Order: sequence, then C-alpha cells, then structure tokens
Amino acid sequence: MSNAASCPACGTSVATPLEHIGLDEQHRSYSPGNPAVADELTRLANVPGDQYQMLRCGQCGLEYCEPFVAPGEQSYQLVYKTLSLYPGERWEFKFVPGQLSKQDTIGEIGCGSGEFLKICRSAGIPAMGVDFSKDAIDSCIASGLDAKLMDVSGESSAFVAANRRTAIVAFQVLEHLANPTSLFALASEWSAPGASLWVAIPSNRRPSRIFHERDFLDQPPHHMTRWTEDSLKIVGERNGWKLARLLYEPMTLMTRLWWIATRTRTYKAFAATRFHKARSLEMALRTMIYPWALLRSLTMGESMSGQTMMVQYAKA
Ligand SMILES: [Zn+2]
Repeated sequence: MSNAASCPACGTSVATPLEHIGLDEQHRSYSPGNPAVADELTRLANVPGDQYQMLRCGQCGLEYCEPFVAPGEQSYQLVYKTLSLYPGERWEFKFVPGQLSKQDTIGEIGCGSGEFLKICRSAGIPAMGVDFSKDAIDSCIASGLDAKLMDVSGESSAFVAANRRTAIVAFQVLEHLANPTSLFALASEWSAPGASLWVAIPSNRRPSRIFHERDFLDQPPHHMTRWTEDSLKIVGERNGWKLARLLYEPMTLMTRLWWIATRTRTYKAFAATRFHKARSLEMALRTMIYPWALLRSLTMGESMSGQTMMVQYAKA
C-alpha cells in the first residue's frame, strides 16, 4: 500500500500499485504499422512522463491510472479513425429498452453515432443524446435523431435542466472519464425525481480479466478506470444515486468453453506450432479439450461472464 492520488470513486488515498503502462507501447498497439499516428497520439495524451502507473484503491477496489488525465477529443478522433470501436450491437442496447416503456423519456450520455437512439426510436420511446464528438453528433443529426454536442466534464447547457428525463443511460462512458463524478452530476441535472440511471462499463468478470491477459483497449489512456461493485456503489452514493442492481452480460456455454479450452497449456502449445492455422486440426484439439473445459466451467461458477456489466441506479 502507498499514498497515492485520491481514488476517483471513493476519495481514499491508500492504494496498491499495479502495472506500469508505457504510452508509446500503448499507442503502437492502437495504430499498428503507423508510427506517425502513434507519436501524434502520445503528444495528444498530454501526460508529463512516458508511462501510467495503475493503482488499486484500498477502500473500494477501483483500479485507476496515475496521472489521471483523459486524452481529449482530438485523440479519440484519431483512435476511432484507426480502429473501428463503435459497435452496432451491444447487450445493453437490447436489455435496457425491455426495461422501459413509451411513457419514459430517455437521455443518453455519450450517444456516439446514435445506435441506441435509433433503437429507442423504433420502440417508440422518446430519446435524446449528448456526446463530446462533433462527428458523432453530426452523424446523429443526419439520421434525424435528437442529439446535442456536449462535454460531460464541462459546463452543462441550459437545455438539460429544461428537458428532465425519466431515465438516463450512459453506455461505455464512465471508464473513459477523468472526472467520473461529472457523469452522475449531469445525470442528476438532466433527470426527473424518481428517475433511473443505467451505467454500462467493461465487466470485472470479462475473460481478459479472469485470465489476467493484457487488453490494451482496457487500459489507459483508452480506459482510465476498472470498476468493481463496491466502487460503483460508492461513487453513486456520493453523487445522489443508489445502486438498485448490478447485472452481468451473459455468456453462452459454447463461448465459455472456447475461452477455457484456448487458455489451456495444451492448446497454447499447439497454437505455437506451424499447424495452428489448420482449421480442422485446431477444431479437433479444441473438441478434445471441451469435456475438461466443461468441468472447469462448472467449478468456475459465475466468475466469468460477458464483456459488459451494468448498474441500474435509482435517484436518491
Ligand atoms: Zn476507492
């Protein structure tokens, strides 16, 4: 344990140091084969040193980076141009509308190019989105969606208080913010009494975390924080939102078996040989491992699930 910058979720300043993450290495992963883009991303990251230190809060378990500086819009524009990161389909896009009705009015924080707003429109649920990317908002407006340019961490504009919503959603936004409490503050301002808030973030039970594998997109500067149930509960409580339930994206049995089988020593040894591209051999080996993987899956219980977890908060 060491004294560090205070935890962005609970404010405690006792944390355990975890891994170091070099900016150059991260940015080379974002833009393979394009060192000029990597250099530009490092410049835009606006971080004094050349690496981040990951820390785990001793109180709530949140993992966060130091320096705790988010990369800004220009950097995101460049990353999103290089990698395709706006998925059209997400578990939460399907799950949340099933929990809403046509009497609800939705406010989406970080609406991107409007995939969820379109789903709401098809379901006849009035929805409006904000995002800090001008490109994203232009794309929403071109699709006839109700969306406005706004930086979550900046001053909220007057229209927010004039358009109170019954439900606020923020999907895959919280982990990008250098000021996570600003999301909860905006949700408070934008919502009616009794409103709900849905926050989806990368799951602490996703396979890469269970198998302790490096996922460069789940590290800073892309993801500044890695959340736990305690940290989500505390950050809500400190900002006027009570955690009502925590949900984990399901994972099919076949996907579970695939993950477990491909992480065995036998499979990894095979993957290192020149035969690994022979599809029929690969499948035959994997199928042979599946009975063992099934047993392993049963002993793991609920510890591994899909990529996303989601909190439903109630306005306190
Ligand atoms: Zn904490």
